[in-house]
Amino acid sequence: MCKQFPFIAACIVLISATVVFNVFTARALWQSKEFNFIPILVIEEIVFLFTLLNFFQAAFTDPGVLQREKAEDDQNDFHTPLFKAVIIRNVSVRLKYCDSCNFYRPPRTSHCSMCNNCVENFDHHCPWINNCIGRRNYRFFFTFLLALSIHILMVLALSLYQIATQDPPWKEIPSMVIACVCVLTIFPIMGLLFFHIALLKMGLTTNEQVTHKFPSNTNPYTNGFWHNFSVIFCRSKPLRYVGYKSLCKQPARLKFLSSAGKDYQLQQDDTSSAYSINVENTNV
Ligand SMILES: [Zn+2]
Ligand SMILES: [Zn+2]
Repeated sequence: MCKQFPFIAACIVLISATVVFNVFTARALWQSKEFNFIPILVIEEIVFLFTLLNFFQAAFTDPGVLQREKAEDDQNDFHTPLFKAVIIRNVSVRLKYCDSCNFYRPPRTSHCSMCNNCVENFDHHCPWINNCIGRRNYRFFFTFLLALSIHILMVLALSLYQIATQDPPWKEIPSMVIACVCVLTIFPIMGLLFFHIALLKMGLTTNEQVTHKFPSNTNPYTNGFWHNFSVIFCRSKPLRYVGYKSLCKQPARLKFLSSAGKDYQLQQDDTSSAYSINVENTNV
């Protein structure tokens, strides 16, 4: 319950604030004889539904959890180096052995301490949606931020209009409350949106940015803003890893990442598959 509290609070604030706006402000504007607000209000409601849709998709989509491998023999563990180095586009990237999941984490993968899973293209763990943001749900998270920013700006502008055109203005208490909620939330949400636009431009995840993983101009994963954008938003959603073995009755796609693995394979549609990758053991 404690872990889910921010998610439940975010749902309540988002939905209840919009209901109050619809019941008081939007209804008054709908009946306005001074200006035809109906098309604007219809667009606003569509944006709100789109926001909710992406919010729940980000919250309930598997972010790219990698299926755990069985723990290997204790004798073998002694010889397992902590890191493997791979060369991706002439940049050395270290893969750390995950003791919880029993494999070398693929490039851009991190173990989330909140979910206790390794997540591919791990961006961060978002308490507000109670889920990791990773390869499979980043697009929903980004679209949610974009739609939520537009939703708040529209609600704020319409509420301010309603307050300004009433005489006396303080009669519009619901619109004032909604405007205050919008002012308090718009800055952190738009700040986060612009931060993720900058990350898209650099081709980095939040995790890579805050840990300064790649000093300037050494990020092997970026191909420019539009390519980075198309990789995330224009390709079909990657398949889930969890349940893959039982579904397909094939060896794990990540077997090469076990301590004994030698070769390196990635999913066919993985952007890294175009990179030349050499693997070597290292304890450094
Ligand atoms: Zn792990
Ligand atoms: Zn997580």
